[in-house]
Amino acid sequence: MAALQRLLRAAASGGAVTAAARRRMGSLAAEQAPPVAPAPKGFPFAAEERMRRRPAAERNVQWVFLGCPGVGKGTYASRLSRLLGVPHIATGDLVRDELASTGPLAAQLAEIVNQGKLVSDEIIINLLSKRLKKGEDQGESGFILDGFPRTVKQAEILDGVTDIDMVVNLKLREDVLVEKCLGRRICSQCGKNFNVACIDVKGEDGLPAIYMEPLLPPNNCMSKMITRADDTEEVVRNRLRIYNDMSQPVEGFYREQGKLLEFDLPGGIPESWPKLLHVLNLEDQEELKLAAA
Ligand code: ADP
Repeated sequence: MAALQRLLRAAASGGAVTAAARRRMGSLAAEQAPPVAPAPKGFPFAAEERMRRRPAAERNVQWVFLGCPGVGKGTYASRLSRLLGVPHIATGDLVRDELASTGPLAAQLAEIVNQGKLVSDEIIINLLSKRLKKGEDQGESGFILDGFPRTVKQAEILDGVTDIDMVVNLKLREDVLVEKCLGRRICSQCGKNFNVACIDVKGEDGLPAIYMEPLLPPNNCMSKMITRADDTEEVVRNRLRIYNDMSQPVEGFYREQGKLLEFDLPGGIPESWPKLLHVLNLEDQEELKLAAA
């Protein structure tokens, strides 16, 4: 993954990527990227990239989770990552870690994130590269990405450096998404996510009825609940607008590649998790894990 994180960084800064990837990045790259730096001598990015494109059967899964804010990408991606033994990498978490630090980026990021806007591709790819490097040092392989890619440019950059096996697109009606975002809480001590919203909406206008129980914290977390600064109604609606403009085209990008698995959430975790395992053909794996527990 060292090659992957170096390539991601190079791609984000307009540096060396394969000619094919650069062609795909096309005009978007030209819009933002600084002048292209020549590849360092003796550092064959392209050759290294080919080496890293290992057949799926010889490595752990490389999956992406897409979906609107509040849909539950984090919940299902982290459950699957535990089941499959691969890291769950959420770029939103990387951004929040940076926000919580005293690093030079924190103030700049706070302004962007608290308005519900997207962080620049360059910053997000630097954060992701650092995370991949750390994982590689710890012997990680494979990943489930959550919240990345969020723009077609990010998808093209990722495509230029590694193979994504599958993209799961989680879907839920918009009124439910807003309620779920407003109900989100985080324990300021253990960092776990909860949701105090009880979703119970009737089916109407062709939309299905949805029932989702709240995901309440245990007693010891109860008094430490905090709400994300970007989970206010105004910011959530802005994030949904931005998702529709910037991130929905990413679905089309992967649909064209035949990698997109659409998944309409039928309800809360008790209904959705078994169905998701079923469509992913992973029921046996869950049973094996439970049996071994
Ligand atoms: P959401 O609940 O909207 O899915 P996340 O936790 O994934 O939120 O992300 C929180 C914020 O972090 C986003 O609103 C955005 O400002 C920033 N962010 C996360 N991932 C990306 C990305 N891939 N590109 C740009 N900005 C990102």
